Amino acid sequence: MEKGDMLYEGKAKKIFLTDKEDEVIQYFKDDATAFNAEKKGTILEKGVVNNKISTRLFQVLADAGIPSHFIQEINDREMLARRVNIIMIEVVVRNRATGSIIKRLGIEEGLFISPPLVEYFYKDDSLGDPLITEDHIRLLKLATPPQVTELRNQALKINDVLLPFFQQRGMMLVDFKLEFGLWNGQIILADEISPDTCRFWDIQTGERMDKDRFRKDLGRIEETYQEVLKRVSS
Ligand code: UDP
Repeated sequence: MEKGDMLYEGKAKKIFLTDKEDEVIQYFKDDATAFNAEKKGTILEKGVVNNKISTRLFQVLADAGIPSHFIQEINDREMLARRVNIIMIEVVVRNRATGSIIKRLGIEEGLFISPPLVEYFYKDDSLGDPLITEDHIRLLKLATPPQVTELRNQALKINDVLLPFFQQRGMMLVDFKLEFGLWNGQIILADEISPDTCRFWDIQTGERMDKDRFRKDLGRIEETYQEVLKRVSS
C-alpha cells in the first residue's frame, strides 16, 4: 500500500490518500488543543499512544459486532482505514456528569446518569461545536431522522461494550465523543477513541486519566496516557 497526498489535516490527526480509492491512512499527531483550540500544546508520544488505544478499542468493538472504519495498524502512528464521508455531528454519550453538561444544566459533578444520555453537537469550529437537537440536525440536513436513530443506537451499543471493558480495567468511562461516517450507504464508526475523546476516572482513586489533565493543567499527562494504554492492552 502506497501513501499518497494529504487529504485533510485536523487538530490531532492527518488523513492521507492511498493507492486504493476507498482506503486512507489516519496519522496521529502529538498536538493537543482544548477549549475550541484556544489552548494549544503538545503531549509527547500522544500520537503513538492514541493510535494504539484506538486500534485496540476498534478491535474490541469489532469483536462485539460493531464495525468501524478501522482496517489495520500500519505503524506506531498510522492506521489504515476505510474512506468514509464524515457525518458532521459529534455524538456524546455520558454515564456521569462532568464538563459542559454541568455548566449547561447546573447539575452536580459526578452525578450518575443511568440510563446513559446521548447528546449531539454540530461539528463546526467556527460556531464552537454547539449542542444541537434532532430537529436542528434535520434543519441543517446533517442526517435523516432514521440516520439519527442509527447514530444513537450505535453510540449506546458502543457504550454497552466499552463501559464494562473499562470497568474491568479499573476505569470509569465517564463520557466520550464519537464520530461516524457514511461508507457504502452504511453508517460506521470513524475517527478515534482515546483519552483525547473520552473521560476516564480511576475507580480506586478518582484520578482523571484523560485530556482533562491537559485542559486543567493537572500534570503527569504523558504518564497517564501511557497508563491508559497499558490498561487497555491487558
Ligand atoms: N469531546 C471531544 N471533542 C470535542 C468536545 C468534546 O472529544 O470537541 C469529548 C470530551 O473529551 C468528553 C466528551 O466529549 O469526553 C464530552 O465533552 P463535553 O461536552 O463535556 O465538553 P468539554 O467539557 O470538553 O467542553
